[in-house]
Amino acid sequence: MVEFTINDKQISVENGTTILNAARMNGIKIPNLCFDKRLRPYGGCRLCVVEVEGMPRLFAACSTPAAPGWAVKTDTPKLRKVRQTVIELLLVHHPLDCPVCDKAGECDLQDLAYEYGKPEGRFIRHRKEAPPDVRGPLIELTSNRCILCGKCVRICSEHQGRGALGLIGRGFPTVVQPAFGEILECDYCGQCVDVCPTGALLSKPFKFKARAWFLEEKETICPFCGCGCTLTLGVREGKILRSRGKEDVGRNKGNLCGRGRFGFDFIYSDTRLKTPLIKKDGAFVPATWDEALEYISGELKKIINTNGRESIGAIGSHRCTNEDNFMLRKFMLNVIGSNNMDSSASFGYAKVQKALDAAFGLKTHSINMDSPLDKDLILVLESDISITHPVFGLNILQAKRNGSQVIVADCRETKLTRHSSKHLKMKEGTSTAFLNGIMKVVLDRELCDRAAVSNITGFPGFEQGLEDYTPAKVSLITGIPEEDIISAAEAIANARNRMISFTLGV
Ligand code: SF4
Ligand code: SF4
Ligand code: SF4
Repeated sequence: MVEFTINDKQISVENGTTILNAARMNGIKIPNLCFDKRLRPYGGCRLCVVEVEGMPRLFAACSTPAAPGWAVKTDTPKLRKVRQTVIELLLVHHPLDCPVCDKAGECDLQDLAYEYGKPEGRFIRHRKEAPPDVRGPLIELTSNRCILCGKCVRICSEHQGRGALGLIGRGFPTVVQPAFGEILECDYCGQCVDVCPTGALLSKPFKFKARAWFLEEKETICPFCGCGCTLTLGVREGKILRSRGKEDVGRNKGNLCGRGRFGFDFIYSDTRLKTPLIKKDGAFVPATWDEALEYISGELKKIINTNGRESIGAIGSHRCTNEDNFMLRKFMLNVIGSNNMDSSASFGYAKVQKALDAAFGLKTHSINMDSPLDKDLILVLESDISITHPVFGLNILQAKRNGSQVIVADCRETKLTRHSSKHLKMKEGTSTAFLNGIMKVVLDRELCDRAAVSNITGFPGFEQGLEDYTPAKVSLITGIPEEDIISAAEAIANARNRMISFTLGV
């Protein structure tokens, strides 16, 4: 542990913690424009400089590890002057277009300019003039407003694993652009829009819809995939105008994918059913909710009287909330008196649950969003998790960055195969043979505690069942070279803790 002080407050943090992170953990604000806790320290904007007692120079808090006994000051006349100058320099090229910039009101640069800026700049240079790049469908880039903090570029390559943006050019004319100045073609996760501290990157669907200060923010859960990310909705006069992720909010911790961020417009689709319809004389006619409920109740009573309660069934949906499905269940059991319920989820999840129950005695998955983060090895089996569960996929990428080994067995090229430690290119649908082959290698080479596994009920039969799955045979079935099957088995067996990750596709 490192003991030191920030603004005379005693601080104790783990070795290697930067001054900025230590300050954040202790609720001390140090201004910055290029820091994001998901990214490696960058030290680009120099706004986070701090003074250390007895040291002749200033330190960038975001990239300087705290040292024992240091007395750090974060707000002194000298620091205010330095920050003022940094902002003055950033504003040399920056257009003064807050009145027409969508970011105004929630812009880090604007806030810091108010806090530290001077009414006039001493440096005169031609301001950048480039029209906004509006060629992509969802994201607009106005390079005039860019301060080259590189956060968008880094979140895209380091965290999102996409690398769709780069800083192009040198010196003053440098701009953020997709490769070769082409149209942005990427995951459209919008993470770059969230992290941009200026109005250089904006959400196109939200542009000019409302000023930030008119928005009421409400949190809700994304309905699209099983990650259950928290969306922070911007609502004005009852209408949802945008969705974004907020640092540390929800299990997604501010991350969102394109569906959660941009995919809510269906709510206002002209073709969406907004009122109940009752079929009359062969045509659907709009009805009030009272009329619809009256009608449904009448029809249900008729069916119960003629065919009995058990003749009624209900179909829930995994797109509905747990609470909605629970209410449906309660309604069916307590009001209708029928146990006939199903949902499309049972085609896949119910089978997985059954298998888990049979194998491990577990009724539910024992995983959570952070599960990949403490694993030495992650085996991804025929699943494109970055598409099906994008934010969970980000944690697999994060685990890889933290040093985990990620083995992906898949016939496709996916984002995870590109970032994997090893891509085992297999023939489609051959996972079972592959897993049998892995288990055979593990047993044959005594890579597990044989005495312990031999006590498991049914083990001899299980081992016998693997007899045919020699690496040579599995290689023929899967198309994976023998030596790769053996080395994957060894890696899996030797990992201190491991995880096998797959989605319904498998
Ligand atoms: S939207 Fe996502 S993938 Fe596309 S450039 Fe931005 S961060 Fe990268
Ligand atoms: S576009 Fe925004 S996030 Fe990207 S470098 Fe410019 S100011 Fe930074
Ligand atoms: S990963 Fe995307 S689709 Fe899934 S819950 Fe999160 S925002 Fe929604």
